[in-house]
This record gives sequence, structure tokens and C-alpha cells, in this order.
Amino acid sequence: MSVITNRPKGTQDVVPAEVYKWQTVERCAAETAECFGFKEIRFPTFENTALFKRSVGDTTDVVQKEMYSVTAKSPANGKDPDDFTLRPEGTAGAARAAIENGLLNEALPQKVYYMISCFRHEKPQAGRLREFHQFGAEMYGSADASADAEVIALAKSLLGRLGLENVELFINSIGCPTCRAEYHKALKKYFEGRKDELCPTCLDRLERNPMRILDCKSPICQGIAKDAPVILDFLCDECSDHFEKLKKYLDDMDIKFSIDPKIVRGLDYYTKTVFEFITTDIGAQGTVCGGGRYDGLIEQLGGNPLPALGFAMGLERIIMTMEAAGSEFVPAKKCDLYIASMGEAAQKKAAVLANALRSEGYFVEFDTMNRGLKPQMKYANKIGATFTLVLGDNELETGAAKLKNMDSGEQTNISLGDKFIDEFSNSIVAEMFSGDILGE
Ligand code: ATP
Ligand code: MG
Repeated sequence: MSVITNRPKGTQDVVPAEVYKWQTVERCAAETAECFGFKEIRFPTFENTALFKRSVGDTTDVVQKEMYSVTAKSPANGKDPDDFTLRPEGTAGAARAAIENGLLNEALPQKVYYMISCFRHEKPQAGRLREFHQFGAEMYGSADASADAEVIALAKSLLGRLGLENVELFINSIGCPTCRAEYHKALKKYFEGRKDELCPTCLDRLERNPMRILDCKSPICQGIAKDAPVILDFLCDECSDHFEKLKKYLDDMDIKFSIDPKIVRGLDYYTKTVFEFITTDIGAQGTVCGGGRYDGLIEQLGGNPLPALGFAMGLERIIMTMEAAGSEFVPAKKCDLYIASMGEAAQKKAAVLANALRSEGYFVEFDTMNRGLKPQMKYANKIGATFTLVLGDNELETGAAKLKNMDSGEQTNISLGDKFIDEFSNSIVAEMFSGDILGE
């Protein structure tokens, strides 16, 4: 394998012919989030490693096995080396940025969304990459179950707009530190009985954070975890009440869900509500969206105590699901006009006319390869130009040319003078109308 011409394992290129799929999802996500009052936030691709250890949790798979960390070679201050990590997820960076920029002192709730690349050193497979992309949304300030319903509704609404109404929603509550203390005891007791069968990582988790065993990917640990006690039986009154309220909201909003008491999520910061949207259409990696409430995180990161919640969607998995479901993607914009030219003077005129139309918002191309007329027309066909125009000495002399509709073959006269833009606009409008009438 060539290290120069092959991309690193677990990464993907998106070629121009495919990028419209990404643009469809990204634009739809931004528009949907904005309808719910979320505003975009941008933050660095890498953060201090301590941020992820503190927030994601140092007994999680992400921190223990999957982070790409680097130590800056010559620390600027000559003291401790700087230890950075490529972000494995967005919640921690978004929360850090919200605190650092004082967003949480402004009118609450604060609602942000982001479109980011994330990095995890995982075993690459379909729907599981080392560099992947997330659309995430975070809401800071509300402890009420209506906020949980709100972020779930945002995810649901986006999935619906992308033609994925059938992706199933599963919810659970993993309680707060109060109810979790009792639950941890019960889990510890259960897993201690089967200690000999657990993987080495889970043996360590048994001491430090037994709930993490429920999220272990080893089939043996998963088998043991099947019969473990479930957190829903241990919820305190407040958490239980919150969960009931959320269910009622979802029912009232007609958002279908199932309760899955086994969902614990792979990141430590969650409290109370957790949820996942899962599809069966794309194989084993079917979780297209995961999220929940994280009421302790902001304080843990040094901010004033503030409840918060959010979710992240894996965009590769979303696109795979859309392809499987036959969802529609918004096609790439088509070239409105290709101006072919013969000779240098005509080529110059083509450049001037192209720019005049472009400043009106039209998509126009002309020949920059100095090719003959035939290959120019072949190119115009290939890019699917709606109209073409051929410029030669004759056209320059008379100040008029033939505008050809590439679909119908019909040709109309067009002036190359002051009226050029108006006449071209009329032709484009007429073309749009003819499409409508034919029901295209
Ligand atoms: P999984 O259980 O599939 O490992 P996770 O619980 O680690 O997912 P989160 O950290 O909650 O995932 O990330 C949110 C979403 O990001 C996931 O639901 C998934 O769609 C996507 N995602 C996570 N890891 C990857 C990856 N390695 N490659 C592609 N998408 C991913
Ligand atoms: Mg994972």
C-alpha cells in the first residue's frame, strides 16, 4: 500500500459527484435546527486531553481505547508538555466553548448546533470510521422534561425531513448520582458473582464504574450483562417523575418510542434521560443518533451548575440509511449555460458574457481548454448544460447568436449587447415553465 496515494484506514473521501448527498443533509440539519431556535457554534478540532478525560470519562471505551492524542514536541512555556486530543465527540468542546465565551450567562436556554468531524481509533467497518462526522445539538439551562422532548423532537423532525420516518426511537433513564449509588451496588453484586468471565477492562470497571460494563462490546460481557439489574428499578422519585413527564410529552407530540432499559450510552456524562434512534437498514452499526441529558457536566467543567442535554447524529450512517430507504437528495445545481467559442476574440467575449450572467446568479461555463467546437459541445452535454451558445466571428460581427435548448434542440435568437441578460433570463423562465406544464 502506498502511504502517499492511499488514504488512512477508516477515513473517507467525498468526491464532487457525491457531495450533493452531504450538502442535502447538512443544509437540512441546519434549517431544521434553526426552526427550533438553535444557532450554529464552531469550536476547535482538538482540545486539551484533560477536557475529554474529565467529561467523557476515563473508564469509557472512547477515552481508554479510542482517542488520538498528541503531545506538542516543544512546549511553549518549557514546563509541562501540552497534551492535545482530536475531538472524539462534540458535547465536551461545545460545553467548554459555551462556558469560556460566557454564553451560559446570557438569556437561557442557550441552544447550539454543530457539524463536525470526530476521530476515534476504532476497528473500521461499514458505518464505523476513524474519522466520521456528526450533526450535534445541545441545549443549556432547562431541567424540565419539556426540554428533553424538545431535543428529541428536533432529531425526529430532521429524520422525517430526510425521509427516515421509520427510524425507531428508544429511550431510557439512567438516573442521577443519588439513584445511581444504589444501582451501582446492585450491579457490583451481580457482576462480582460472574467476575471470572469478565474481560480485563470490565474487571477494572467493576471497581471504578460498574455501569460501563453494560456498554462493553465483548460478546461475553454482553451476554453476562443481559441479566443484570436494570436502572429503571432504582430511579429516585425525581428521576422517575422526570421520565414519566417525558413519556407524556412524547405521547402528546405523537412521537413513537420504546423503552429500552439497557441503553446506558458510551459516555459518562449522561444523567436521567438517554435515547437512541436505531435503524435496521444498514447492518450492525444501526445507531444513527444518540443523546441525553447531562445535568452535571457544566459544573464538572468549571461552569456554574446548569442542567443541559443534547444529541449527536452520525452523518455517514444517516446517508447510508437514506440510500437504503431511497430518500431523495437535492441534486447538484445544473449548469444554466455553456458558451462555446471559436477563436480568441470569441473566447474573450464568452468570458465577459459568462461573468455578466454569473453576477446575476446564473451558473455559466465557457471553454478554457482551447478545444475545438465538437469537444466543447461534448463537454456541455456531459455537464448537462440547460442551454448552449456558440460564438464565432460571425456572431461577434452581427452582435447576435443562437441560444440552444439542449433538451428540446430548439434554437432562439439572443442579442449579445445590452439586452443579453434580460433575454437569457426570459429563456430560463420559459424553460422552467415548460417543465411545469409537462409535469417534470
Ligand atoms: P456506537 O455504539 O455505534 O459505537 P456511540 O455510542 O459510540 O456509538 P456516540 O458517541 O453517542 O456513539 O456518537 C453519536 C453518533 O455518532 C452515533 O450514534 C453514531 O451515529 C455516530 N458514530 C459514533 N462513532 C462512530 C464511528 N466510529 N463511525 C461513524 N459514526 C460513528
Ligand atoms: Mg462507540
